[in-house]
Amino acid sequence: MKICVFGAASPTIDPRYIEAVEKMGREMAKRGHSLVFGGGGNGLMGAAARGVRDGGGKIVGVIPKFFDEESVEAICDFCDELIFTESMRERKQIMEDSCDAFIVVPGGIGTFEEFFEVLTLKQLCRHNKPIAIYNIMGYYNELHETMNSAIAKNFIRGNCSDLYVISDDLEKVFECVETPEAERTVRELKDG
Ligand code: AMP
Repeated sequence: MKICVFGAASPTIDPRYIEAVEKMGREMAKRGHSLVFGGGGNGLMGAAARGVRDGGGKIVGVIPKFFDEESVEAICDFCDELIFTESMRERKQIMEDSCDAFIVVPGGIGTFEEFFEVLTLKQLCRHNKPIAIYNIMGYYNELHETMNSAIAKNFIRGNCSDLYVISDDLEKVFECVETPEAERTVRELKDG
C-alpha cells in the first residue's frame, strides 16, 4: 500500500518521538508499504522517511516550490521521487489522492490541519481510506477527549469515532490501515 504519513516538521521535539517514528517507517517497509509525505527532512517527516529508506521501501515527497526558494523547511534529500507543487493546497491534494491510507503521528498546526481535512472529507464520503492516529506517548489524548466531548454534546455524530483509529500500539495502527473500510453514507455520519 501507499501510506501517507502526516507529522511534525520540528526537529526540537523529544527524541523518543523520532525513534518511534523511525521504527514505524522500518515496519512500514517491512510490510511492503511505501511512503507518501510532505517531503520534510526534519522532525517526524524526516524520521518516517529515514525509517522507510532503512527498511528498503519507496519514498515520495510532495513539497511546495517556495519551501525550497524561501528555505521554509529542510527538504528530505533521499526521496525516490520529489514532487514540487505551486501551493500548499496542491501539495495536500496530491498527498491525499496518491495514497491508500493515512497515518497521523504527532505534529503541530500543519499536522492537525491535515488530519482534520482527511477526516472531514471521509465524513462527507469524499474518500473512504483508513485513518490511523499513532498516539505516541499519549500525544493525542487531549485531541481524543475534545472529539469525545463534541460527540457527547451532539456536535459530531457518535459513529464518526469509527472514521479513525487512535492507538499507541503500532500493531493496531497497521491493522487499521491494512483493513478495508466499511461502506458508509453521509446521512449516517452527519446531521445537518
Ligand atoms: P507541523 O505539524 O506544523 O510541523 O507541519 C507539518 C507539515 O504540514 C509541514 O510540512 C507543513 O508545512 C505542512 N502544512 C501545514 N499547513 C499545510 C497545508 N495547509 N497544506 C499542506 N501542508 C501543510
